[in-house]
Amino acid sequence: MSGKGRVLDGNAIAAEVRAEVAREVQALRARGVRPGLAVVLVGEDPASAIYVRNKDRAAGEAGFEVRTLRLEAGTSQAELLAHVAALNADAGVHGILVQLPLPAGLDPAPVVAAIDPAKDVDGLHPLNVAALVMDRPGLVPCTPAGCIELLDRSGVDLKGRHVVVVGRSMLVGKPLAHLALRRHATVTICHSRTRDLAAVVRTADVVVAAVGRARLIRGEWLKPGAVVLDVGMNRGADGKLVGDVDFEAARERAAAITPVPGGVGPMTIAMLLRNTAIAAARQCGLEDASSGPVRGGTALARDGGA
Ligand code: NAP
Repeated sequence: MSGKGRVLDGNAIAAEVRAEVAREVQALRARGVRPGLAVVLVGEDPASAIYVRNKDRAAGEAGFEVRTLRLEAGTSQAELLAHVAALNADAGVHGILVQLPLPAGLDPAPVVAAIDPAKDVDGLHPLNVAALVMDRPGLVPCTPAGCIELLDRSGVDLKGRHVVVVGRSMLVGKPLAHLALRRHATVTICHSRTRDLAAVVRTADVVVAAVGRARLIRGEWLKPGAVVLDVGMNRGADGKLVGDVDFEAARERAAAITPVPGGVGPMTIAMLLRNTAIAAARQCGLEDASSGPVRGGTALARDGGA
């Protein structure tokens, strides 16, 4: 293949999703439900503070009631668990998000496990992880759900295709592999001990890079016509965001590719809003039967679509 691949516009697709969620929120409000999202930020990590501000703003714009708990870095594990318990018990809160990473000294696993799974809009509670693996309704982590939604809305069908996921985190790589399996892809997961990563990537119809190393994936590694999703967000020396893929070189070979910024990143927030709307509808028994138990990129449908 020659020429440049199509750039998949995450900003535009995320705006579509956000507009749909805003309509769902209006519909819930019309039925007497004020969907609420609680965001918990512990400490002063500047990157986390920016993420939380962006999430708050997007949720507010979509019509959610947003409550942000800003806790000081010295908050104890017991205090944090008590806050989570209070949010679990609060009927006005339908989604709870504890911004990770937590400051040193706080153990995230028990905190995530303490969130009511029905309100776990990050999809990280062990029961939601199990639901994903078992193809049951649940809440799916936002970034991988956003990747699938972006592919769906760009007309990329995963059925029978070889998806290579680089990265095996609980946040991105592993859930993404399961979502791709749900779409009948043949999936390979790579990580830091993978031998000859370039050779594996060369066999991919779709490459998802979720590593956290600037420009690790080189253009010449790609099979011509591959589709590339770049989840990586690395801050360069000049302060600019750089993905895990060498974008310009990759675009020479790829059929389609997501940029950084403006690719997967905006989809993550859009899917957080979608998860919160789903969680609110379920908790109030108002789920729209026509849209299935889990919608959009998180759909349970096994034959290619929602
Ligand atoms: P993570 O937990 O650090 O996981 C990174 C994964 O990459 C690990 O599985 C690691 O392998 C693997 N890896 C590291 N070096 C490698 C190498 N040289 N070759 C192959 N694999 C390698 O990171 P994460 O939370 O999944 O995030 C990954 C990236 O996505 C980061 O840049 C993060 O900022 C970004 N991110 C973006 C969004 C978004 O909204 N766009 C959301 C979440 C994360 P091992 O398991 O063997 O260590």
